[in-house]
Amino acid sequence: MTRPLPGETIDIHTHSTRREGFYVMNVFAQDLVHGLPDTANCSIGLHPWHLEIASPSVCMQHLKTFAGNEKVIAIGETGLDRNIAIPLDQQMEVFLAQLDLAEATGKPVVIHCVKAYSDIIAIRKSRKWNMPWMIHWFNANLQIAEDLIRAGCFLSFGRSLLHPNGKNAEVFRQVPFVAVFFETDDAEITIESVYEKAATLKNIGIDELKTRITENFDRLFLKK
Ligand SMILES: [Zn+2]
Repeated sequence: MTRPLPGETIDIHTHSTRREGFYVMNVFAQDLVHGLPDTANCSIGLHPWHLEIASPSVCMQHLKTFAGNEKVIAIGETGLDRNIAIPLDQQMEVFLAQLDLAEATGKPVVIHCVKAYSDIIAIRKSRKWNMPWMIHWFNANLQIAEDLIRAGCFLSFGRSLLHPNGKNAEVFRQVPFVAVFFETDDAEITIESVYEKAATLKNIGIDELKTRITENFDRLFLKK
């Protein structure tokens, strides 16, 4: 794992090859057949959307092969999505297997969650997890944000923050700094634009924002 340089933006979850600042490239488990990308840091996981196009057992084997690699700094994205046709129990099985893999390899988890926040909170509370989880593209209300943070999760904000007068911006304004990250995911946005909007919403300078997010990086990945 490389670490962000002082003053560098951190894109905590991206599928883009734009390569701005410090970024964590997401790699889908089924693509691991080609090995790891040549990027410095990546996360690897079986996405719930891909349970119909990829073999879960083959994907889990790929994940186990690469999870210990030093370039792999997180497991995911994995998670639960109540908006898709794939039954939740099928999603749950591979999600739990990836949470266990993260514990076994000592790596945090990048979580995809759609309409399943209460499921995620219940799983988080069901036993003692040593590794932190990060909910990517967080887009729910303040109560859910606070429950997740209290349970030991980080929240990553992205394109929803840029919507004019969006609800997500108001939630972001109220969540504590210690738990947040920013991302581009697969959106046609720059990480700079997300940082700029976030600094405006929190009414702080961009340099202070960068310092705070770098501290969060150390908390998430180095457990400082
Ligand atoms: Zn993603």
